[in-house]
Amino acid sequence: MAQAQASTGSPLRSDFSLLIDGESVTGTEHLDVVNPATGEVFARCPAASRADLDSAVSAARRAFPTWSARSFEDRTLFVKRMADILRANAASLGELLTLEQGKPVGQSRDEIGRAATQSEGLTQIRIETETITDDAERRVEVRYVPLGVAGIITPWNAPINLAAGPLVSALYTGNTVVLKPSPYTPLSTLKIGELIRDVFPRGVINVLAGGDALGQWMTEHPGIDKIAFTGSVATGKKVMASAAGTLKRVTLELGGNDAAIVLDDVDPKVVAPKLFFAGFVNSGQVCMAIKRIYAHESIYDALCEALAAEAGRWKVGDGLDPTTKLGPIQNRMQYDKVVSLIEDTKRSGARMLAGGEVPKTAGYFVNPTLVTDVAENSRIVCEEQFGPIVPVLKFKDVEEVLKRANDTRYGLSGSVWSRDPERAAAIAARLEVGTAWVNQHRATAANIPFGGAKESGYGRVYAEMGLKSYMEPRVISVLKQPM
Ligand code: NAD
Repeated sequence: MAQAQASTGSPLRSDFSLLIDGESVTGTEHLDVVNPATGEVFARCPAASRADLDSAVSAARRAFPTWSARSFEDRTLFVKRMADILRANAASLGELLTLEQGKPVGQSRDEIGRAATQSEGLTQIRIETETITDDAERRVEVRYVPLGVAGIITPWNAPINLAAGPLVSALYTGNTVVLKPSPYTPLSTLKIGELIRDVFPRGVINVLAGGDALGQWMTEHPGIDKIAFTGSVATGKKVMASAAGTLKRVTLELGGNDAAIVLDDVDPKVVAPKLFFAGFVNSGQVCMAIKRIYAHESIYDALCEALAAEAGRWKVGDGLDPTTKLGPIQNRMQYDKVVSLIEDTKRSGARMLAGGEVPKTAGYFVNPTLVTDVAENSRIVCEEQFGPIVPVLKFKDVEEVLKRANDTRYGLSGSVWSRDPERAAAIAARLEVGTAWVNQHRATAANIPFGGAKESGYGRVYAEMGLKSYMEPRVISVLKQPM
């Protein structure tokens, strides 16, 4: 049989399988996967059918009683083994992640390493039984029991890191899992499924690639007890509506439009590289990227100059080139959206501080773009750009800038920058967000709850709060009176 070929003439990579009930399954349907640096299909992987989902859910349900009966300590050992496997395979997984996602290969390896560290960090958190009353008459306690089968749905911007948090939270708390990556970036997740296939008991983890329909089947499935969804606000709303049919528990980690407020007392040259990094790393395709910079009028010009100088230091290119600092936009649809935002912003008469041009290549590259002189109600200020274009806006006083920063349905995170951290903290506490940072942005850890206010999400991941969202509180109320 002739081997399938990419349009470059080289053979398509096709060494991928689904993981169902401890078996590697090749399936009958497939997905083509594009390398965003070339715009070419470079790999093909199996896509799960509805029957494959039913098999995975049945396997997860069968595995649940034994897995949930294990102790936290025991389950920690499994997670530790998984973290070791991630680290041991960081080079090959990192390269695969770059091929499908586009980010610079060093950042891909970092993502795998971070997934391992976060996984181990989650298993340091203890979930204890709470005693409400224990006296001569009665004992009332709250125990936390696992929900059952967790369905995990992830996006394409950081597939491994965003899978690891919910995956380990579910497993450590005694649930079994069906995990579905984005159809744009299924490969590294499938590969991890293959690598850990023989580490976990059959059926505890099932990994299914597939399109958006597979995600919807998961949200409707009566055999799934919880959906952990990370993705856009629009899809998050569909997930919540669909999960209502079976009253599944849901955690929604959605989009953001994070504001960074830069006060009058900063040194622009010191903050500019930090702001730039938080706005542009992964080509701005980060839920908690800085998406609007509000700079005080007294430092505005100096900050603009320092940011523009920083933009010149970030080389755009293929993520496999070790000198690349910004890779392509991950997919054609998102690329078209970012290009249309740039065109719209230019038409509005905005001034381009840096970038603004889109190289003519087959890959989905966009130069880092900083814009000023934009109206507060323009698309680039109001929408989540999810790409390498950030507006820099001027403000006069703190009350005014807080109003502007909070004037959005998004509420993921935000930051305030100052020479005086406590002054900044008082302002940060008034941001209507899930996380408000001072003199930093994107600082998360396994022991700190993370999630969105307003339409940026529902519930929290990480920390005790996040782990408990995979558990049901069960009250045991004992009247100590013999009958
Ligand atoms: P998306 O909503 O298009 O897709 C996310 C996942 O949902 C994919 O796996 C997709 O196949 C699946 N899906 C699509 N339709 C579905 C449906 N009807 N039911 C169930 N599943 C369905 O998001 P995306 O474009 O892949 O990701 C980008 C978005 O994700 C951005 O808005 C970004 O801010 C957000 N995001 C949020 C966080 C966070 O932690 N808050 C982290 C990363 C990304």
